[in-house]
Amino acid sequence: MSARVLIVDDLFPNIKLLETKLTIEYFDVVSAMNGPDALAVCEKGLCDIVLLDVMMPGMDGFEVCRRIKSTPTTAHLPVVMVTALDQPGDRLRGLDAGADDFLTKPIDDTALMARVRSLVRLKAVTDELRSRAMASRVGDPLAAATAETGHNANVLLVEDRRASAERMAAALGQYHCVETVASPQEALERVKAGDFDVVLVSLDLQDHDGLRLCSQLRSLDRTRTVPVVMLADAGDRTRIMRGLDLGVHDYLVRPIDRNELVARVRTQVKRKRFSHSLRESVQASMDLAVTDGLTGLHNRRYLDSYLAGLFSEPSLRDRTVALLILDIDRFKSINDRFGHDAGDEVLKEFATRIRAQTRGIDVVARYGGEEIVVVVPDTGLDAARQVAERIRERIEAASFQVQRGTCAIDVTVSIGVAARQPGDEAALILKRADLALYRAKQDGRNRVVAAAA
Ligand code: GH3
Ligand code: MG
Ligand code: MG
Repeated sequence: MSARVLIVDDLFPNIKLLETKLTIEYFDVVSAMNGPDALAVCEKGLCDIVLLDVMMPGMDGFEVCRRIKSTPTTAHLPVVMVTALDQPGDRLRGLDAGADDFLTKPIDDTALMARVRSLVRLKAVTDELRSRAMASRVGDPLAAATAETGHNANVLLVEDRRASAERMAAALGQYHCVETVASPQEALERVKAGDFDVVLVSLDLQDHDGLRLCSQLRSLDRTRTVPVVMLADAGDRTRIMRGLDLGVHDYLVRPIDRNELVARVRTQVKRKRFSHSLRESVQASMDLAVTDGLTGLHNRRYLDSYLAGLFSEPSLRDRTVALLILDIDRFKSINDRFGHDAGDEVLKEFATRIRAQTRGIDVVARYGGEEIVVVVPDTGLDAARQVAERIRERIEAASFQVQRGTCAIDVTVSIGVAARQPGDEAALILKRADLALYRAKQDGRNRVVAAAA
C-alpha cells in the first residue's frame, strides 16, 4: 500500500520525525510547511491523506482543514489533526472544521499507523467507487460527499458499564439516535435486524469477549458493511492491534474524550453513507447501460447477454423457454401521418401494454426500432402462443391515445413465436421466431404465427 501522506507542520524536525516513521512503513511522504502550500498539494491531487499540525503561523491548521473540507475537489481527503495533549479544546475546534481524526503529540506509533492505515484503506475503496460513478456520469458523487454531515445516524453501543454507557450515549445523543445493549448476543440480533450506521463495542465486557463480537460483525454477510469501533483501555495494545487486523474500523481509548468519540463516529457514518450512495450510483449506471431510454424496457445488449446465459449455462440448458418477437404493423405510416413524436408515444404505450400482459420473470426487451422481444421461461410453444394472442388482442382492443389525448391511433401488431428445441442456440431460436414473424406479416398482419416445433 503505497499511499501518499501529506505532512503539514511549520517545524522541520516534526516533519522529519513523522516522515521517518511513515517511510519505514512504506508510505510515500510529501510535506508542506504552511497552509497555502498544503492546500496547493491537496488541490493538485498529490496526496491521499493529510496529517495537519494545528499550531502554525499565518493560516492555522483549523483554517487549512476547513478549506480542504469545503472545496469539492478535496473534500474527500481524510484529515488527521495533530494536537497538543494539554489542549482538549482543540479537538472540538478540529471537529467543527471537519477533521476526520486526531493524533496527540507526542505521537504514539500504534495510533499513527492505525489511523493512517484505516483512513488510507477506506479512501482507496471510496476512490474506486468515485471513479466508476464519474465514468458513468451518474449523479454527482463529489457534491454528495461535501453535503454529507454524518449526523442523524443509528448508533449501537455495546457496553455493560452503566456510567460509561450513559456518558457516551449523552455525548452522541446530540447528533444521533443511540441504542445501548449489554451483551454480544443482543448486539448481533439488533445489528442483523436493525439498520445501524455504526457499532461501538467495549472490549472490557464482564462476561464476554468483545473482540469476538467485532470479528463476527466483520465477517457475517448481513453485518459486514456496518462500521465497528472498539472501546479499549490504553494498556490493551495487543487486543487493539488484533482488532485492527480483523478489520475493525477504528478504536477509542478510555477515558473516552467526548469530542474524539463524536468525531470518530461521524467519520464512520459519513464513510458508510458515502460508499453506500456510490454503490447505488454504480448500480444505477449499470441499470442504465442495459435499459432502453425511450421505453424503459431492457435493451438489446441486455437481451443478448441474458440469452447467452440461458443457452450456454449448463444448469439452464434443459429449461423450457419460448420467445416472442413483436413488430408493430405499418409503423412507418404512423410516423408519417402523426409525426415522429407521436410515434415515440405509441412505442411507449406499446411497451406498457406488453409489460402488463407478461410476468415478472419474463424478459421484455426492445430489440430494434419497433420490435420487441419477450422471453418466456418455463413455457412451451402452445402456452407462449396464448401469451402472444393475449398481447395482440390488448394492442388491437383500444386505440392509443397520444399527444395529451388529442389524437387516437389504431395500432396492430404481428407476432412470431418459437420454442426452444434440443441443441438450440440463442441465434437459432431468434431466427425461427423472426421467420414466423415474417409469415405473420405476409399472411396479412395483426396475427400470431408460431414456428413449427
Ligand atoms: P411492417 O412492420 O408492418 O412491415 O411495416 P413498418 O412500417 O412497421 O416496417 P418498417 O420496419 O419498414 O418500419 C419501421 C419504422 O419504425 C421505420 C422507423 O422510422 C420507425 N422507427 C424505428 N425506431 C423508431 C423510434 O424510436 N421512434 C419512432 N417514432 N419511429 C421509429
Ligand atoms: Mg413494423
Ligand atoms: Mg420493423
